Amino acid sequence: MTTLDTTELTPLRQSLTGAVLAPSDEGYEAARKIWNGQIDRRPAVIAQVAGPADVAAALAFAREHALPVSVRGGGHSFGGFSVCENGLLIDLSGLRAVVVDPQARTLRCGGGTTWAELDAAGQQEGLAVPGGTISDTGVGGLTLGGGVGWLTSRHGLSIDNLLSVEVVTADGVTRRASEEENADLFWALRGGGGNFGVVTEFEFRGHPVGPMIEFGLFFWPLAQGPEALRFIRDTLATLPPTMGAMLVGLNAPPAEFVPPEAHFAPGYALVIAGFEGPEEHAAVVAQVRRGLPTAFELVTPIPYVALQQMLDEAAPRGTLSYEKALYVDELSDEVLDVIAEYLPRKASPMSIMPMFVMREAFTRVPEDATAFGGTRSPKLAVNIAAMAPEQPLFETDRAWVREFWAALTPFASGAGGYVNFMTEYDENRVRAAYGADKYERLALLKAEYDPGNVFHLGANIRPAVT
Ligand code: FAD
Repeated sequence: MTTLDTTELTPLRQSLTGAVLAPSDEGYEAARKIWNGQIDRRPAVIAQVAGPADVAAALAFAREHALPVSVRGGGHSFGGFSVCENGLLIDLSGLRAVVVDPQARTLRCGGGTTWAELDAAGQQEGLAVPGGTISDTGVGGLTLGGGVGWLTSRHGLSIDNLLSVEVVTADGVTRRASEEENADLFWALRGGGGNFGVVTEFEFRGHPVGPMIEFGLFFWPLAQGPEALRFIRDTLATLPPTMGAMLVGLNAPPAEFVPPEAHFAPGYALVIAGFEGPEEHAAVVAQVRRGLPTAFELVTPIPYVALQQMLDEAAPRGTLSYEKALYVDELSDEVLDVIAEYLPRKASPMSIMPMFVMREAFTRVPEDATAFGGTRSPKLAVNIAAMAPEQPLFETDRAWVREFWAALTPFASGAGGYVNFMTEYDENRVRAAYGADKYERLALLKAEYDPGNVFHLGANIRPAVT
């Protein structure tokens, strides 16, 4: 392991406003821990930056000492790309201020903000930015890869609502990027992941949402699997198009609304989030109730912030985790048959298969307007995640994820998938995720803004050789 002695670290400590943590410092152990308990890497030094000048100083230090660099937003990536072994970790968790302008309907936040913080501040003014479905995920990583969640069909991806960023590029220069300024860099940052620099501030367009929204969860046990999956498929097709919707394969939670005999039972859920008021929602709920009797349901208005935290308990920090994902254009009978065959084979009650519906507003953004990896046709993002509290169970379900994913692959739309849902990357998959044209454009921009491939962890876009 690279060790930097006190003398070597002194210039970094002196040039940073934020804290610098070496392995022997108090706070180091906590600062290297991330969401996925499977990741156990030890950076040589952690720079807890307080702003763009600190980021530039940290990058200069890494260059001088030939240290690999990782950048931590919310620390939520399945692959743990925010923590490097033996390198310099730029920790953005000190950059979490949120400023909301209710007149302009804009929200600005620091590069280390979590969705819980952005949602809470936005809701103070009745606004929301399309984000993800687990509230302690970072705005940073989720947005830079695209950003899929409950509002995708209503208002598009997170990147479709990004107005500008402040970013420190590999050369240490702080730049603003928007449609008007450094437009090429702004294009690359909207979907190109963490490849192009350290974003210290995001500015989003907000939308009037809430404070209350209409929630519905309907659960069918495995015994009803094939029938329930077809019913969910047919129901999804008739839902109001901007309604948030997911099909989830999971174990029932031991919650109050679940009858005790169904606690931890595996099955399938249709989960809906209505933003257009009780009337629209009531019609959908009546349709589901008429259609196929459930083991249990939860239908209630809830605050928007509660919707955003609804799945948090299903994904506690420190869980051993692994995932693979792909897109499908439709839930054909063949796709549903694979799901009905493989979902019951999972061993850990925590392992889960959430499937995100992406349509309407998502499809109205032109293909080349952003670097998002994936076409803008209506689709579902199928996410198969192994999650377990201990190693043998985790390994069993990691194998289950791989087999399940391989069985679904013949029905995938495109060879890539959503870059934010990949635990492992290889260049071919990253290329396939973006498609040849986007990848080439991204590689040229990478050569311009990060020719030395400083930001290489995660879905890496290699600098084009020009
Ligand atoms: P980190 O691990 O901190 O960062 C991930 C990558 O982004 C790293 O390469 C990092 O260097 C880079 N990065 C982060 N912040 C910055 C920044 N400010 N500037 C430059 N680079 C940065 N995705 C969805 O779209 N929708 C979901 O509903 C969703 N649910 C999820 C649920 C769980 C339980 C998990 C584990 C993941 C989920 N994801 C979801 C995937 C999520 O979008 C990615 O894991 C994302 O990378 C997390 O961002 P982060 O900042 O928390 O992660």
